[in-house]
Amino acid sequence: MTKRNRPWGYQSGNDEGKPDWQLDPQTLAVRGGLARTGFGETSEAAFLNSGFTYDSAEQAAEAFKDETDHFLYSRFSNPTVAMFENRLAALEGAEAAFATATGMAAMFASVACLVKTGDRVVASAAMFSSCYVVLTEILPGWGIETVLVEADDVEGWKAALSEPTKVVFIESPSNPLMQITDIRFVSDLAHKVGATVIVDNVMASPVLQKPLELGADVVMYSTTKHIDGQGRVLGGAILGSADYIKNSVVPFARHTGPSMSSFNAWVMLKSLETLNLRVERMAESALTLAKHFEGRKGIKAVHYPYLPSHKHHALAKAQMSGGGTTVAIEFDAPQEKVFAMMNALQVIDISNNLGDSKSLITHPASTTHRRLSPEVQADMGITPSTVRVSVGLEAVADLIRDLENACDSL
Ligand SMILES: *Cc1c(COP(=O)(O)O)cnc(C)c1O
Repeated sequence: MTKRNRPWGYQSGNDEGKPDWQLDPQTLAVRGGLARTGFGETSEAAFLNSGFTYDSAEQAAEAFKDETDHFLYSRFSNPTVAMFENRLAALEGAEAAFATATGMAAMFASVACLVKTGDRVVASAAMFSSCYVVLTEILPGWGIETVLVEADDVEGWKAALSEPTKVVFIESPSNPLMQITDIRFVSDLAHKVGATVIVDNVMASPVLQKPLELGADVVMYSTTKHIDGQGRVLGGAILGSADYIKNSVVPFARHTGPSMSSFNAWVMLKSLETLNLRVERMAESALTLAKHFEGRKGIKAVHYPYLPSHKHHALAKAQMSGGGTTVAIEFDAPQEKVFAMMNALQVIDISNNLGDSKSLITHPASTTHRRLSPEVQADMGITPSTVRVSVGLEAVADLIRDLENACDSL
């Protein structure tokens, strides 16, 4: 290793030359996982190749037996993707990571690599609609039982986790109402019945919540959201112990092929460098905006975990270092008036994405959560009068003014 080459990262297994103090996450976000080529390029190199060559047939044979440290094929691994995985693992404090093409590929692989027919999965009821479809339609079709529990239903969690369970899947905070599940409480129950606890940490990002420190075993991301955060590329990631990644995720992913493209990994390596700065500012603006609109005429409720009125406020304060970047607003007006308000916005865009540097507004009932029945939507607290605002990096005064003007049209 040269001074230029600093691949500090858990799974790279190379801590040579690493400073002997605990590096701050911001430093790891900029430098973790960096593996330079002999050219000494400053930024990470983009290895936009699918395959690799060998010096000899023997070397190829050894590489396929996992006896040498040699890249084989970009469906398995790629140097740029490995840098992204190492950097994200260092930031998360996880032993290892596997990057995927999308958040849903990460969600599906993280669960599917553990379960088989006859197994049981327990999940928090409020979740992203595609995750809901995987757990309540696709897996049951393969003979896997799914039990759903409301985020704050203590007795419900105790009952659900009183029998052998393979996986516990928690989305906290949940999208869009930001309901909070007590990760430590549920993890303790889950471990007693042998379950692996997977947390969908998309809404908090690694900046605002560290599920592994709260007792969870696995963290998954849609890196499309805050991690890219600039509306460019799709991606996902699974993080956990070296044993889980190496012996469960990697064999499953190698053969089923949900790998991340190296171009996308390169874009997201650069995104990670500014992740802390972006998410901290966005969360600060989200809190300002939530406080401003709470109690406004025409608004029935503002859902944001760092508002004292949020029903899981104390828990959010205990397990997160910020309230997140999205605010759900329920209007005291029918859907057509809410649509008119959205259409009147001049800065905030109508879009289904979140975690972007551009502020975006979504009407979950007719878009992202449309796939769910009105009853399931109602259980999740989603009404036809609810919007989700993903607060971006614009000046918060402009966002408040834009929303105020649009609210006047109600
Ligand atoms: C967007 C999202 C996903 C899925 O991620 P994709 O990158 O769109 O596949 C999963 N969970 C949550 C909470 C999300 O917001």
